[in-house]
Order: sequence, then C-alpha cells, then structure tokens
Amino acid sequence: MAEPVPAFLALVAPGEVAVTRSRGFEASHRFGREGTPADRYGHASRLHGHNYVVSATIAGSIDPCTHFLVDFRSLDDLLREAVAPLDHRRLDVEYTALGDREPSTEALAVALFGALAPHVRSRLEQARLLGVRVAENDGLWADRREGGAVEVTRAYAFSAAHRLADPQRDDAENRRIYGKCANPQPHGHDYRFEVTVAGEPDPRTGLVADVKALDEAVAARVLRLFDHRYLNAEVPPFDRVQPTAERIAERIWELIAPDVVGLARVVVYETPRSAFAYAGPSR
Ligand SMILES: [Zn+2]
Ligand SMILES: [Zn+2]
Repeated sequence: MAEPVPAFLALVAPGEVAVTRSRGFEASHRFGREGTPADRYGHASRLHGHNYVVSATIAGSIDPCTHFLVDFRSLDDLLREAVAPLDHRRLDVEYTALGDREPSTEALAVALFGALAPHVRSRLEQARLLGVRVAENDGLWADRREGGAVEVTRAYAFSAAHRLADPQRDDAENRRIYGKCANPQPHGHDYRFEVTVAGEPDPRTGLVADVKALDEAVAARVLRLFDHRYLNAEVPPFDRVQPTAERIAERIWELIAPDVVGLARVVVYETPRSAFAYAGPSR
C-alpha cells in the first residue's frame, strides 16, 4: 500500500504535486560487522529476514499534456530496478551499496535514496525525489528526506485502563469537561505509540538509532509500568495528572529521553482514529 508520507509532504512546494509509489521485497540480514561485540545488536545479530516495503515520493508540476506529474509506471520501473539487488538476497553480504554499514532500515533508506535520486532527475525530468521510506515491518521504518535528514521510527503497544476526572471538581463538572471518559468506572484502550529518532548516520555503522537500546528503554521505562495497568491508580503521575493521550505522550517522552540519543517525537494513538504527537519540552 502506498500512503503519502507526511514527513515528505512537508517538502512539497506551492504549485507542485507529490506522488508516492511503493514496492515490496523480501530479504535476510544480520547485524554485527567484523569486530562488533557479540551482544551489541541482541537478536538482530542472528541471521533472519523481513518483508520490506520501500516507498518513494516524488514532486513536481502537473504535465499539461498528460495531466500526470509523470506516468507513475516510470517511477515503478525505477523502484523495480533499485530494489532488484535487494530482493530475495542477504543484505549484509550481497547489497554492495551498503559498504561497511550495518544493514539497517536507515542505511537502506539512505542507499536507496542515493540509487533513485539521479534516475529521477534524468528519467523523470519533471520530478525530483522528496524522500524514501524503508519499512522493515509495521514496527520499524526509516525516512531519508530530500536535504539529507534521516529519521527512524519504532512502534510499540500497551493495553491500559484509565478515566478522566479531576477529584477537585464535582461529577457534573467532570462530565462537562471529559464526557463519557468521566464515567466513575474506568474504560481502556489498546494504545499504540511511535518513537522517532533523528540524526546523522554514524559514519562507520550507518546507524541513526540504537534500536536495541531504544527497545530496552521503552520496555523498562514505559511498557513495564503502563501495560495492563489502571493508569490513574498505578502509574504516577496519573494519580495527580489526568491520563489524557496528550499527557501520556509527554510522559513517555520524559521517561525515555535520558536514554535515547536524538529523540525527536513521540506519537500516541489512543485509538486507530486519534493521534497525539509530542516533540519535547520548550527550549
Ligand atoms: Zn532485522
Ligand atoms: Zn479513554
């Protein structure tokens, strides 16, 4: 499925349109180049594989003859050519564009951006490449944007109960402010949240995010506390602060920020139909 990538759409100039196409590939990899300590990448140091999806977003003006930006079949051709050296391959051995970098989603996004951008310029003359997203699965993806910025996003989930009601206010007032969320008995959600790390790829490993360290920080500092709990009663500060999704996003940031270099954003989905993003305290 090709969805517009919001991070890339921010780069669309007035008068332009953006087009995203996606292509899947299946490949194996393992982390830990020569000389890496054995436990550096956890289970990612064992050979395994993924169903990857690459999305490329291009932008430019509408061709007055065809009323396309470009015939997207020509973008599909470029994607097919770029992905061919990865499909049903072992990335850390066979995909030479990685060089000595670890076969991470961000290294793949950087390499594929580098492979696609010159062809977009020469073969899709009306268009430029805004960005490339490489998704390893529903829980991990990397974006390489025009201009060089790289972001890695990891998704997590927990289930919890909560209720929104301020003990300083009476029931009628709580009902007015919080509606059915003020029901005296709690309700609950399958929360999903995404943590985004931004930065320069390490020149040696190609890594922007230490996913193992991120997983460990989230497991120890967030999931252990939040999962299968009644937030108001069991998870400070929600005994004093209303456990709104806004406050949950802010709290997740506070809990993991000391351990996560390059933390850029936390997005909480209280339901699949609502998203709450927090990008850190004011500076
Ligand atoms: Zn993997
Ligand atoms: Zn709720």
